[in-house]
Amino acid sequence: MMNITKEIEAHYDDMVEIRRHMHMNPEISFQEENTKQYIFDQIKNLGFDIKRDVGGNGIVARLQVDNSYKTVGLRADFDALPIQDEKEVPYKSQVDGAMHACGHDAHTAMLITVARILSEHKNELPVNVVFIHQHAEEVLPGGARSMVEDGALDGVDYIFGQHVSSNYPVGTLSYTYDYAYASADSFAIKVQGQGGHGAEPHEAVDPVVATASLIQQLQSIVSRTTDPLKSAVVTVGTFNSGTVFNVIPDTAEIRGTVRTFEREVKEKVQHRIEGIARGIESSFDVLCTVDYTDGYPALLNDNEHVDHIIEAMQYAEYVKIVEENLPSMGGEDFAYFLQNKPGAYVYTGVGNSDIKADYPHHHPMFDIDETGMKAGVETLVKIVLGFQR
Ligand code: MN
Repeated sequence: MMNITKEIEAHYDDMVEIRRHMHMNPEISFQEENTKQYIFDQIKNLGFDIKRDVGGNGIVARLQVDNSYKTVGLRADFDALPIQDEKEVPYKSQVDGAMHACGHDAHTAMLITVARILSEHKNELPVNVVFIHQHAEEVLPGGARSMVEDGALDGVDYIFGQHVSSNYPVGTLSYTYDYAYASADSFAIKVQGQGGHGAEPHEAVDPVVATASLIQQLQSIVSRTTDPLKSAVVTVGTFNSGTVFNVIPDTAEIRGTVRTFEREVKEKVQHRIEGIARGIESSFDVLCTVDYTDGYPALLNDNEHVDHIIEAMQYAEYVKIVEENLPSMGGEDFAYFLQNKPGAYVYTGVGNSDIKADYPHHHPMFDIDETGMKAGVETLVKIVLGFQR
């Protein structure tokens, strides 16, 4: 029988090399040309049935053990972010303005390592395994949806994924029951007034004052409309209008995001945004155009499969703490996989303040404690072997 610890130690240096290669050569979402080739080269000789360019730059590799077995899908994303790497380390990003600041390099290194280990122990596996390397998690519409539409989950029964987290120390596996991430919608509202001289407001229709009121009223949605026991966020992140201090501009525009878990809450918030915009039109004699865009849906775990992970982690070597945590109002397009197949998504700790691996994700100084990847690999391998009953 496979000695998981021995396998992880034997593959560790190569895993670090993969992670560092990716860290030095980041490619941002939808532009992962070299990355997809690199990943393919790492797994092409492992005896898998590999489909390339699935739904874009995605790669789907199947390890078929027995036609009568169930099939487990494991997913890792591989895109980087348009952020300048400000760390001073030998593996610093070599690409100006691009950086693996969310740990997707580690996700990929771990999944490739799991693929190598499992391929060497094919005959001991209780399930077939499909390795899903996903492009473009960071930017709408994301890679997950198009990969699913292009058949990434064909012949897959259960789907699992994990995200590294600098919020948790190495050796921590963090899970949530039910929702793990919120749906992440965006909206833009254009407020059309009528420009004029700053000294003659009566001859103009001021979109700035109207929009200031609009922003204030939008903040009443969560406090006065949604159920206080059901989470929702409305954030206005931009407000653009005017260029000259003594001129009333023609238009103003705001952009923002709406985060919710439940569909009914999301629809209520969307409906109120429309209603408030109509009210601003009457109050200020402006014209409001609301453009609401659905983002990633909320990520809903299948609790039976969360329990499968918890049980599989008994007697783990590297995963020392398995703890339940609260969901995040962030978004994650793994939600699309879970809309189609039962499974679960968990966090693996890679935080370590001693080596400055404790900056938040998407920070220019973001880094991980690479030893945390051992626990991540152990988690994925044990999820697969856990189907042996
Ligand atoms: Mn991420």
